[in-house]
Amino acid sequence: MHSLETNLNNVRQRIISACTQSGRDPKSVTLVAVSKTVNVETVQEAFKLGITDFGENRVKELVHKREMVPEARWHMIGRLQTNKVKDVVGTGCLIHSLDRWNLAEALQKRAEKLDLTVPVLLQVNVAGEKQKAGVQADEVLPFLQSIDQLYRIRVMGLMTMAPLSDDAEASRPVFRELAQLRKRLQQSQIPNVTLQYLSMGMSQDFEVAIQEGADLVRIGSSIFNAS
Ligand SMILES: *Cc1c(COP(=O)(O)O)cnc(C)c1O
Repeated sequence: MHSLETNLNNVRQRIISACTQSGRDPKSVTLVAVSKTVNVETVQEAFKLGITDFGENRVKELVHKREMVPEARWHMIGRLQTNKVKDVVGTGCLIHSLDRWNLAEALQKRAEKLDLTVPVLLQVNVAGEKQKAGVQADEVLPFLQSIDQLYRIRVMGLMTMAPLSDDAEASRPVFRELAQLRKRLQQSQIPNVTLQYLSMGMSQDFEVAIQEGADLVRIGSSIFNAS
């Protein structure tokens, strides 16, 4: 069993190598440690080791851990039910998983009530997998053009998950397509849409994601469950 510190140093080193290989500044990549499988004590330990950003895929866990470690930045990366929106909006979390219109409407409504804006990433189902959440790639432009009417929502970027695979290279076309999609959308200059972040890459493929332009990598098992 490796220690958390060893795992973390290993992941950080791999992030730095991937950045160096592709001529990127390591500071341009944010490591989001996905803490969904570990308890608060482990999150606190990781925070002491310098992790600033944590991701959770369930609202209840997110709210609980955020209360216990409020100094960290928190990311909601899992499917968000509309009835849980009230627990997330206003917490300062970045929501990576805006994946459907009725969720956007629920976010707008809550943000209006609290008189604030909500930062989100639009989740794109690049590979078109039936079982996966996300807006289809060819529906992203009309989705973002319509979001102008939901003026409390700030679309800060795009998120995707590549199909599960043992081969990191299998994710490359998916990540490349998301990066190209962002480029095309940026040229469209849609109001309330800045698209500065690409959230892509997990334990299976984060180096490839960095080579393809990821700004946020979401890494869980390589940090918390590596053996
Ligand atoms: C669990 C999860 C991750 C992290 O996956 P690992 O393979 O453990 O690195 C990243 N993104 C999402 C959306 C997740 O649910």
